[in-house]
Amino acid sequence: MYYDLHTHTVCSDGRLTPEALVAAAAAAGVRVLAVTDHDTIVGVEAARAAAGGHDMTVVAGVEVSAMWEGHTIHVVGLDVCLDDAVLKGGLGTLHGIRADRGRAIAERLTALGVCGAEGLLERHPVIGRGHFAQWLTDTGHARSRTQAFKLFLERGRAAYVGVEWPPIGEVVGWLHAAGGCAVLAHPTRYTLSGGRLRQLLSTFVAAGGDALEVVSAGLDAGEIGRLARLAAQFGLRASAGSDFHDALPWRKTPGGLADLPAGCVAVWHDRPRMQRADGI
Ligand code: AMP
Ligand code: MN
Ligand code: MN
Ligand code: MN
Repeated sequence: MYYDLHTHTVCSDGRLTPEALVAAAAAAGVRVLAVTDHDTIVGVEAARAAAGGHDMTVVAGVEVSAMWEGHTIHVVGLDVCLDDAVLKGGLGTLHGIRADRGRAIAERLTALGVCGAEGLLERHPVIGRGHFAQWLTDTGHARSRTQAFKLFLERGRAAYVGVEWPPIGEVVGWLHAAGGCAVLAHPTRYTLSGGRLRQLLSTFVAAGGDALEVVSAGLDAGEIGRLARLAAQFGLRASAGSDFHDALPWRKTPGGLADLPAGCVAVWHDRPRMQRADGI
């Protein structure tokens, strides 16, 4: 699979710089890479600049936080225009929401006797829970980022602060305004029953959503097949993305994904900027 259409850099909660991500993806055989940081597009240009030396196409992307019936849902935008005022305005709103939540998380941590986290807000213009998890690990309050989530940051934990992200239809509108397509990310990770997932897909399609992330890291062939059938039933295209965040021993590289099942219409099907001139 030469495509990886869902990855993160240090511009959100990934651990590699855009340049290092491009190098790691190229080494893993990825030829078309979408950089899709949470609620920000600032890493795309640096990735593009680095990609020239690696014979790689970088797709301008973003993973936008949205709300559906009380659930946080992630919508990956692909092939977006980086200068679009509507998208930039929408992402600006999200940065404000993230900063407010970041301050509230730091206050909760201080109340728990874990002091100093407010400094993160200056260092990270688009602050996320991943930054707090890393800081809690670095300062010895947790053994790993995963444990930091378990101890402090997950829903139900003492430093969890709920957020009202914009509704899913609004987010799809921003991505379309920027000429991009809207992909419902990692559909198996929302802890929804089959019926509720279908309701989410109905809402997403009614809002103009374009594609479903059918292939992602960690899914087995059965799950990929089920998602491919859902995409077909709902008239959605299919995307493939690893959701790569870190260079850890158990998750060394981006890419490494299964091919899209036969019968899927690929999200890049009618988007020349997402296709390779050499046809691979
Ligand atoms: P945020 O958008 O700031 O609320 O952060 C969401 C991100 O945190 C996700 O994209 C994951 O990368 C990460 N995350 C969420 N829950 C966990 C968890 N339980 N363990 C590790 N990382 C998590
Ligand atoms: Mn993340
Ligand atoms: Mn996500
Ligand atoms: Mn992601």
